[in-house]
Amino acid sequence: MKSAAKPAVQRAAGRPAARAAGSKGASAADHAKRFERLGLRRPEDFVLHLPMRYEDETQVTQIGNLLPGQWAMVEGEVLRCELAFRPRRQLLAAISDGSGELALRYLNFYPSQQKQLAVGKRMRVRGDVRGGFFGIEMVHPRATSADVPLPNALTPVYPTTDGLPQPVLRRAIGEALSQVSLSDTLPDALRERLHLMPFDAAVRILHAPPPDVVVHTLVERAHPAWMRIKFDELLAQQLSLALARAGRLEKQSPRLPRKAGKQTVSARLLAALPFGLTGAQGRVVDEIATDLARPHPMQRLLQGDVGSGKTVVAALAAAQAIDNGYQAALMAPTEILAEQHFRKLAGWLEPLGISIAWLTGSLSAKAKREATARVEDGSAQLVIGTQALIQQNIQFARLGLAIVDEQHRFGVGQRLALRSKGDKDQAVPHQLMMTATPIPRTLAMTFFADLDVSVIDELPPGRTPVVTKLLSDARRDEVIVRVHEAARAGRQIYWVCPLVEESEALELQTAVDTCEALRVALPDLNIGLVHGRLPTAEKAAVMSSFTKGEMEVLVATTVIEVGVDVPNASLMVIEHAERFGLAQLHQLRGRVGRGANESVCVLLYQTPLSMIAKQRLRTMHETTDGFEIAQRDLSLRGPGEFLGARQSGLALMRFADLDADIELAEHAHEAAAWLQAHHPDAVDAHLARWMHGREDFLKA
Ligand code: ADP
Ligand code: MG
Repeated sequence: MKSAAKPAVQRAAGRPAARAAGSKGASAADHAKRFERLGLRRPEDFVLHLPMRYEDETQVTQIGNLLPGQWAMVEGEVLRCELAFRPRRQLLAAISDGSGELALRYLNFYPSQQKQLAVGKRMRVRGDVRGGFFGIEMVHPRATSADVPLPNALTPVYPTTDGLPQPVLRRAIGEALSQVSLSDTLPDALRERLHLMPFDAAVRILHAPPPDVVVHTLVERAHPAWMRIKFDELLAQQLSLALARAGRLEKQSPRLPRKAGKQTVSARLLAALPFGLTGAQGRVVDEIATDLARPHPMQRLLQGDVGSGKTVVAALAAAQAIDNGYQAALMAPTEILAEQHFRKLAGWLEPLGISIAWLTGSLSAKAKREATARVEDGSAQLVIGTQALIQQNIQFARLGLAIVDEQHRFGVGQRLALRSKGDKDQAVPHQLMMTATPIPRTLAMTFFADLDVSVIDELPPGRTPVVTKLLSDARRDEVIVRVHEAARAGRQIYWVCPLVEESEALELQTAVDTCEALRVALPDLNIGLVHGRLPTAEKAAVMSSFTKGEMEVLVATTVIEVGVDVPNASLMVIEHAERFGLAQLHQLRGRVGRGANESVCVLLYQTPLSMIAKQRLRTMHETTDGFEIAQRDLSLRGPGEFLGARQSGLALMRFADLDADIELAEHAHEAAAWLQAHHPDAVDAHLARWMHGREDFLKA
């Protein structure tokens, strides 16, 4: 813009005429940088940079028919054009087409514009119509001579970035459209079977829709042209996931078959368990066992609702690795959870002579050195810990299996780092990821298609479903009475303090205050407090005293959200439940209902409630089914939560909407397999068009 500035120019910001003039002056390098910011590098990228909306410059509206709030284009004769100075310097003009008069107002303008709007001239102006004090007006309308023929396509408005005006984008996209081959990457047979429009027709319609198109089908992406584009995008994603999977199958991993006999760790562990596996647990244990026997890395997601018994499945997988002379590692997102796994697995496996190492960031330097040494010389057969497991300086002697609990809490990088710990002899360890956050079907198919998924869809027997009660905070005293009764009946209680997103300090303070208040109200009970800032040793002491049943009430911040397992706890109170997300509430509620006693979850809320909060609380009241909750959460909040660190991959879905386009996604899923089998050349062409340089996102 600088190069276009003339001394007589007023502030030119925001005015189309000046923008167009400025853009000519901006250097090609400036534009390239801005294109880059929009992800536009290759001509193919420009072709796929699609409009978000359109302006209809194909038709002129009668001034007499204009309505405030509408975008319109009108044509008429300039009645007057004059400078006014009150309240500030501005150019005031008016045009008429016989049906009415329209005021035009410019607060910033070039002298050339003033000249352009000469009285008596026929002009075409377009912009937003406003109801002004003296009738309708347009502020800073774009004006051209009425002699220019009307365009015969709608004018696209593209997503853009600062300093990149629409005309520049339009020109660049127009050039790309004439340079790039728009030939179809889909075989005709497939296209016809799915009733998809040809690719070239689809992009041409979207960049320059004919005037008779129903505009809202374009804006809402329901037009057949959009269907084709969204299908192509979903297909590209399916194909690249399939490639990632194929790439994984080329890597080598140790074979860890299930060993026969009664003396194996697996067999002895099964025999020692105080319960038999559920049918669902037995099935997923077999699925994992089969994967582990293969010479290629397993990458399996074990999905099971809270309390479905994933830990024992992990223990059996670890036992199989150990039976083959390999190490297993289990990484958990929080120290409390890691500690609990450690205690549980040690209880099961140490009596069988398995040596387990414990590794977290809070260990003393000496303890850490000792643990690390055992990991490195292979004397630790199972290693349990937090992110500390993946620190640079730790090398496993023979890592055969890496297990990641609550996988959505970890970033892609952290998971990959654990996997790379087995790389000493070029072999990749098998990987088992566990999650209680159920992934809705669309997401599982589109984002996790490169993983194998095992589902535990059955709870251990003897569980009674948790009853959820919604109570206004005004009834807090009644809740305290219930807590007392439950404790007197020998049950244990969780009291979860509100989430304070803005301030961790405030959250902590609330927890401390709540604990004090409860201690005053219930002096005969042993009430403990656990929060994220508590020193590790203290945290462990509190948790252990609650686990052992010495403490009746545990006041906690959300640190107990994941994985804590105390079957005797059967009452949970969540304060300010309206501040939590659905997934979080479901996780929290999953801490009770683990034993045979009827469990209750009280959601205390503070009014007034937002619409979303109301819907969330209602959902919690209506169902305990994690899949149902996840599906409703998806429609309330969009897919981010489920993807966790995979969110980066979301950027790849520019056009398709995972909620609305599930059917297209299913078609794309099937088409991907068919193309790979019958048209490998089409696969390459399609990926080249859609995925250039972005495949890496999906490989993690
Ligand atoms: P999650 O899937 O949420 O991690 P856990 O592995 O913590 O669940 O299991 C929840 C509780 O159920 C634990 O106390 C566990 O020992 C117990 N459990 C697991 N499997 C069974 C089973 N087949 N029968 C009875 N209890 C079981
Ligand atoms: Mg768990």
